[in-house]
Amino acid sequence: MQVFGLVGNPVGHSLSPPMHEAAYEECGIDARYVAFEPDPDDLEAAIEGAQALGIDGLNVTIPFKRDVLDLVAPDDLAARIGAVNTVDFGGRKPTGHNTDAAGVKRAFAHHDVSLDGRAVVVGAGGAGRAAAFALADAGATVAIANRTVESAHALADEIDGADGHGLDALGSLVPDADLLVNATSVGMDGDESPVPSETLHTDLAVLDAVYSSIETRLLREAAVAGARTIDGGWMLLYQGVAAFEQWTGRDAPVNAMNGALRARI
Ligand code: NAP
Repeated sequence: MQVFGLVGNPVGHSLSPPMHEAAYEECGIDARYVAFEPDPDDLEAAIEGAQALGIDGLNVTIPFKRDVLDLVAPDDLAARIGAVNTVDFGGRKPTGHNTDAAGVKRAFAHHDVSLDGRAVVVGAGGAGRAAAFALADAGATVAIANRTVESAHALADEIDGADGHGLDALGSLVPDADLLVNATSVGMDGDESPVPSETLHTDLAVLDAVYSSIETRLLREAAVAGARTIDGGWMLLYQGVAAFEQWTGRDAPVNAMNGALRARI
């Protein structure tokens, strides 16, 4: 039997175990997916222990995505993003990958949205960095807007052609944008949006990375403005699809994984 899992703290409400186990069942793979919650000081021991025990792959979530970078061999994209959310123990040394970036790209692709336009990424934390690199690599011109403007500038400096702003610039950036990603945690806990509703428009495709609620205020207001809306469940699905493909080398059963996810979101 193969063993995969998730390392984070907390992980109690994670949707990854049922999503991945639905994939194993659909593909006839003898595997389990387990959520692990190590003490934050024990990350290195957890990764070494997982390798010693023969665990096949781990997803990594808050608060470990940056720290795990130093414990594995990151691929080029994960190194540029500065965060790993998927560890593959299949080789001699564990490798690190960032499938959140694939999650952003494939969520848009699933909705037939072209990525070569002007993109605004709101947020410059882990999800914002993954979104900004993913969209820039796919050909978009990227503007980053963040509450802490210094982080937006620092991220923009790492990406050719990107520029960084405070949230106050959204009023001028969003009306000219083709793509908008909310990669902040705004909307997770309350009925709030980081983007002024009057800036939203019909030529916009909006991805909200927040998935604790799939109808966030941003997506509701975007739909009213006539924009195309993509909820955070799609990004979650496709980061999991990319992790499954990394670990197994097989095409993921996307519909089975999506069904397991949507039954629980
Ligand atoms: P993070 O690294 O902690 O970054 C948080 C971001 O939110 C920062 O840009 C922060 O701005 C901003 N922020 C926090 N509170 C704010 C507020 N009150 N007003 C304006 N901006 C605020 O977290 P993360 O890992 O990037 O996660 C961000 C969101 O993406 C979460 O909702 C998470 O669940 C979601 N996410 C979804 C997926 C998916 O697959 N759908 C994957 C990863 C993450 P400052 O820099 O100013 O603090």
